Amino acid sequence: MENNEGNEKNVDRIQDEIKSLKKTLSEIQSECHHTKYTVKYIQELKTPKKICDKCDLDIGYASDQELKDSGFMG
Ligand SMILES: [Zn+2]
Repeated sequence: MENNEGNEKNVDRIQDEIKSLKKTLSEIQSECHHTKYTVKYIQELKTPKKICDKCDLDIGYASDQELKDSGFMG
């Protein structure tokens, strides 16, 4: 039982940490100018999208030309 309680505390701490890291991440993303990005395949969406190199934010769909340049099309 004691072990379980310990785990719960651990989970709480981890959740808190995730929350604060997410906050930091969104601050970084809101300050970023997204000047460099890479077209990456997003598994969940089953489509390639533009992801900022600096802050990892999804900044939108790639154009046909960008898809070609990144090797996603013919
Ligand atoms: Zn960015």
